[in-house]
Amino acid sequence: MDMKYVQTTCPYCGTGCTFNLVVRDGKVIGVAPYHRSPVNEGKVCPKGTYAHEFVNHPDRLTTPLIKKDGKFVEASWDEAIDLIAKKFKQYKPDECACLSSARVSNEENYVMMKFARGVMKTRHIDHCARLCHASTVAGLAATFGSGAMTNSILDIAESKCMFILGSNTFEQHPLIGRKVMQAKMKGAKLIYADPRYTPTAKQADLYMQFRSGSDVAILNGLMQEIIKNGWEDKEFVKNRTKDFDKLKEEVMKPDYSLENVSKISGIPVAQLKTCAEWFAKAESACILYSMGITQHTVGVDNVKSVANIQMLTGNLGKPGAGVNALRGQNNVQGACDMGALPVVFTGYQKVIDEAAHKKFADAWGFPDGICEPKNGYEVTTMMDVLADKPGELKCMYIMGENPMISDPDLHHVEKAIKNLEFLVVQDIFMTETSELADVVLPATCYAEKDGTQTSTERRVQMWRKAQDAPGQAKLDWEITSMIAAKMGYGKQFAWKSAEEIFNEIAKVTPSYGGMNYTRLGRPEALHWPCPTAEHPGTPILHKEKFAHPDGLGQFFACSWKPPAEVPDAEYPYILTTGRCIWHWHTGTMTRRSKDLEAEEPTGWIEINPEDAKVLGVQNKEMVKAITRRGEVKVPARVTKDIMKGVMFMPFHFKECAANVLTNNALDPIAKIPEFKACAIRVEKIKEA
Ligand code: SF4
Repeated sequence: MDMKYVQTTCPYCGTGCTFNLVVRDGKVIGVAPYHRSPVNEGKVCPKGTYAHEFVNHPDRLTTPLIKKDGKFVEASWDEAIDLIAKKFKQYKPDECACLSSARVSNEENYVMMKFARGVMKTRHIDHCARLCHASTVAGLAATFGSGAMTNSILDIAESKCMFILGSNTFEQHPLIGRKVMQAKMKGAKLIYADPRYTPTAKQADLYMQFRSGSDVAILNGLMQEIIKNGWEDKEFVKNRTKDFDKLKEEVMKPDYSLENVSKISGIPVAQLKTCAEWFAKAESACILYSMGITQHTVGVDNVKSVANIQMLTGNLGKPGAGVNALRGQNNVQGACDMGALPVVFTGYQKVIDEAAHKKFADAWGFPDGICEPKNGYEVTTMMDVLADKPGELKCMYIMGENPMISDPDLHHVEKAIKNLEFLVVQDIFMTETSELADVVLPATCYAEKDGTQTSTERRVQMWRKAQDAPGQAKLDWEITSMIAAKMGYGKQFAWKSAEEIFNEIAKVTPSYGGMNYTRLGRPEALHWPCPTAEHPGTPILHKEKFAHPDGLGQFFACSWKPPAEVPDAEYPYILTTGRCIWHWHTGTMTRRSKDLEAEEPTGWIEINPEDAKVLGVQNKEMVKAITRRGEVKVPARVTKDIMKGVMFMPFHFKECAANVLTNNALDPIAKIPEFKACAIRVEKIKEA
C-alpha cells in the first residue's frame, strides 16, 4: 500500500484554508490537518473535512460528449475539439461569450481570459463574481481605488470592535468566524445585523434584526449619530479623504434620524445608538460583510456606505480595522484578478485604456490582434440579451459555472440559454447547465492539478496535484489551449505547466509581479500587491494613502432607496436567500459528498411562527412559494430565528430552487441582481 499526504488549499469558500489530502494507492481518500497554515492552523469546517468525498464520485465526467439528435454520445477529444474549433470560427466576435469560473485556478482563468480576448476576439467575458461581489469591486474601487478586502483574516483577531452585516460568517466562513471568536476572547465587542438569528447572531454582544434592503438607511443613521456626537476621526477625514461635506449633507438629513431609520429597518433606536457608540469609540473597528450587502439593486451604494463609515471613523490602513468583504467562492478573488470580467485585463488594467490594451496585445502577439478596446457584457446582461434579443449572441463557452441554478429568475435563464446556437460546457460533473450544451468536456477538480488560487484576503496559495484525473478528463487550461491550437493559435497557448502560465501572469500583472511558485509554496504564501521579487506582500492595504492617483479616499453621498420589489397585497412577504453550512453554491460538489448531503438533504423556507399561524402552515409541511417569476414546492421551517414578514431559502437545491423565485433586477453600476430581497407569497398545498 502506497500512502502520502499532499498539501493543498480548500476548494470551497474564500477563506483559503490549507489541508493535506490523504492519498492511498494513487486515490484521494481523506483530509488531514496541515498545521503550518497561518489562516486555519490545522482546523477545517465541515465542508473542508469532507472535501475529498466528491473527488472520486462515480458521476465524474470522464469523456467528451457531443449531443446528437438530442442525446449525448461519447466522443474522442479529437472529434470534440475539431467540432468546437469549426463552430467557434463560424461566429463573429460579438456573437460569442465566455464564462470563466471562480472555482478553477488563477492560471485557468487567465487562459480563458486570453482565449476569449485573443482567440474569439470577444469583449464578452465574465464569471459568477457578477452574482456575489461585483458591487464590492465597483464600490471599493470608487471609494478607495482598489476593489478588494483591505485587511487580512489574521488581522480580524486584533480588532476591538467587529461589525458584521450581511454575512452569516460562522456558517459561510467558519474559519474566519474563529478569528472573530479570538478577538472576542481578547475583549472585542461583536455587533451583528441580519434579518435572521443565525449562529453568528448567537455569538453577538449586540444583535440587530432588520428588514432586508435597509442597509444604506442604517449606515447613514449611524453616521449621523457619530457626527452629532463628534465621534468622527477628524484628523483622518481631513488628511486622508475628500468630499466629506457632501457625505455630511446627506447623512444629516432628517430622513436618517435614528427614529426614522428605526421605522425603515425595524431596529430599535436604543440598539442603533449603542451600535454607533461602540463602533465609533473603539480603538480599532472592522466591518465584515458579504452578500447581504452586495446582492441588491443598491449593492454599490451599500458598499460605498460601508466605506464611508470606515473613513469617517478612521478605521482604514491600520490593524484591527478595515472593510473586509468576505468572498464566497474559493477563487472568486483570483478570477477577478485574472481579468475574467468584461471591463479589465489582469490586475484591473482597463480594457478601454489604450495603453493597457496595447500592452496585452503586444505581450500576447496574436498576429490578427485581440478584441476591441471596449467593455463587454456582464453575465446578467448576456442572459437578458439572449432572452430578449435572439440572434445577437449565438455561441457560448462556459467553464465550471452552472447558471441554471446560480442565476436569478431561472425560467428567464433557461429561455436565454436555449436561444444559443452553440454551447460548450467544461465541468467535472453533468450539471443543469451542461445538460443544455451541444458539447460537454470533462475537466479536472482541485485535487488533480497544480495551480494557485487567491483567497478573500488577497492571499495567493497553491493547489498541488494529489491524484490523476478520472478517465480522459483533462486540466481546464489544457482543454482551452487545445481549442486555441486547433483554431490556429498554438504558439500563444504553448505552456507545458501551470507554473509557466503563472510566470506569464506575473509578467503582465503588476500586483502579482513579485510572485513565483517558490515564494507561494511557503505556508504563509503572499498577499497582493507584491510588485517585486523582494516585496513581502501586503496584508493591510491603504496604510499611508489610498489607491487613487491623489492618494485620497473618496466619500460618496448615498441616499436610501427601497428594493426593486417590495411587499404588497398579492405578495406580502420579503424573500431573502443564502447558503447553509453543509452545502456549497449549486451543490454540484457538496451534494455528491455523502456526509454533507446526509446533514441537509434538501432545501426549505424559513417562516416566522406568527406568519406561519396566519398562513395556517405547520413546521415541515410542504408549501408553495410563489413570486412574480415562478413557484416552487418546498418544506416549511417554522422558526423564531427569522424576522416576522421576512422568509429565507437556501439556493443550493435544484428540487426547490430558490432562484426560480428571485428577482433579476440589477444594480445599475455593478449589474448584480437583487437576490436578497423580493416579494413573495406562500400558500398551503391543497390536498387532491
Ligand atoms: Fe474550506 Fe472555507 Fe471551510 Fe476553510 S472555512 S475549510 S476554506 S469551506
